[in-house]
Amino acid sequence: MLVREGRIVEVGRGLEAAGVERIDAAGMILMPGLVDTHNHLWLSAARGQFRNTARTDYFVLKKHLGRHYTARDIEVGTYFGALETLASGVTTTVDFFHNLRSPAHLDAAERALRRSGIRARLLYGAHDDLPGHESVDLEHLAAVAGRMRQGMVTLGFGWRGVGEGAPALLENGRREVAAARALGLPVSVHSGGKRNGALVASGLLGKDVQIVHATGATPGELAAFRAAGSALSLTPVTEQRVGYGLTVLSDYQDVGRLGLGIDGTALAGSADLFANMRLLALTESGARKAETAVAPRRILELATIEAARSIGMDDQIGSITPGKRADLILVDPGALNMALSSEDDPYALVVYSATPANVDTVIVDGVVRKRGGRLLGVDVPQAMKDARGSIEAIMERAGPVPAPNAGK
Ligand SMILES: [Zn+2]
Repeated sequence: MLVREGRIVEVGRGLEAAGVERIDAAGMILMPGLVDTHNHLWLSAARGQFRNTARTDYFVLKKHLGRHYTARDIEVGTYFGALETLASGVTTTVDFFHNLRSPAHLDAAERALRRSGIRARLLYGAHDDLPGHESVDLEHLAAVAGRMRQGMVTLGFGWRGVGEGAPALLENGRREVAAARALGLPVSVHSGGKRNGALVASGLLGKDVQIVHATGATPGELAAFRAAGSALSLTPVTEQRVGYGLTVLSDYQDVGRLGLGIDGTALAGSADLFANMRLLALTESGARKAETAVAPRRILELATIEAARSIGMDDQIGSITPGKRADLILVDPGALNMALSSEDDPYALVVYSATPANVDTVIVDGVVRKRGGRLLGVDVPQAMKDARGSIEAIMERAGPVPAPNAGK
């Protein structure tokens, strides 16, 4: 493969070019970089705080800690999370930033993403303390949209959604989504349960909307998502961790535009899109009681080309195609956990055996970011030290989560 100025130029045998850096990928699996359609990188340093008890419940603790994040904490956490994500073979992430408390917080997240080298869509979201009747800062949104139209980090809108029986939130959402659309920004929204129906009824769905989870959606609701041309992001690891239910792929097949996501390294446990592929495949076979219910290639596509298509970026990324940006990874099947596998079906090998530890090389936009299993030009110990310092200070400022019966 020949890459020039960040773009794939040619793929074939016996290619020759003068004055190029050569990367010998003999014995390795060359594949498109993984595309993560949903993440929350700002929260990455909080990994280890969610411990499956009432006091460490994800949504409770996220809100409790979130209000104590300074812009510096956002930068440190986002950078730490982006590094792990990149090192794990993900070359593009959609970062739903739902703790945007000031313009400085937005700048911090953007700076961290750019510094990491990952390709990202940063979603301008509300924080948990913003009342339902209050909009995000629409003037600021417009200003940021103007300067983040192109390049490695672009902007989207992270909509709070319709809520249940929350008319003020819905009315406000109409204003926000209209503003985002006027700016040409793609929109992303969490949904599930009764909110799926309310989302359909809102009339706000469209081709520019990505729905995250949609757990429990009825066939009618899924048909409405499809009719609207909206995309769906499935995050099997976190969906099952927080008890939304089983992520059964065939339930969602009809939506058409589908992609996989990590949904926060902290809640997911790690930035492991391979684990999401494997869980999705296993849950499908288990639910359908058939080993052959799943084609490994289809699962891999949901983390590459189909993921790219679901977020409207398949003209640039998601496959090894001349003309596309050079976002590539090399997976080394020489390690104990992948060795001796047949080379006839690399899809099954990647889906059932690979882990982030097998990612030898990561290239984003033609720039080598990881080689020989190590991130290049990155002080990883310092990034981890900064993340530890940040979360410890946040925990101290926040204090413990109030007991569930406090104030009664
Ligand atoms: Zn999420």
